[in-house]
Amino acid sequence: MSDAPPPVGPKGGPLEEYSAAALAGLRELYRELEAELAALAPRCELSGRCCNFPASGLTLFSTDLELAHLAAATPLRAARDAQLCPWWVEGLCTARDGRPLGCRVYFCDESKAEALAELSERYHARLKQLHVANGARYLYAPFVRRVAELVEMARTAR
Ligand code: SF4
Repeated sequence: MSDAPPPVGPKGGPLEEYSAAALAGLRELYRELEAELAALAPRCELSGRCCNFPASGLTLFSTDLELAHLAAATPLRAARDAQLCPWWVEGLCTARDGRPLGCRVYFCDESKAEALAELSERYHARLKQLHVANGARYLYAPFVRRVAELVEMARTAR
């Protein structure tokens, strides 16, 4: 039997508490964001720089509600490196459907920087409001660290 930690699915630990209504609201929020992004059409060079946290010095944050949504699309798993996203494989994202807001609004396109900053701020405020409207616990934490914590919790709960 493998010693690898079990994947954390949608019913895993603290993520279990989020309601179907909160998750549906989040899916709708992402859908509207993607529509606005399609209209804005920022350029993506597929460089992978946005996900290379050790090189960029960026720290991605997400909420636990977003991680519950991500876990429903792809079980949470341990990263090979404490600083890297577990879904960043050979320079590409392998969790496109489940990725959090911070990933969705980050582009290298300097010509759209102002519009992207406004979009990010506005949707983050909406994300916060979505938690309030659904009585959902708001935990906004560094993404890579929080995923590792949840995977560890699942491992020790075995
Ligand atoms: S979820 Fe995807 S886009 Fe977000 S940091 Fe990981 S690999 Fe990059």
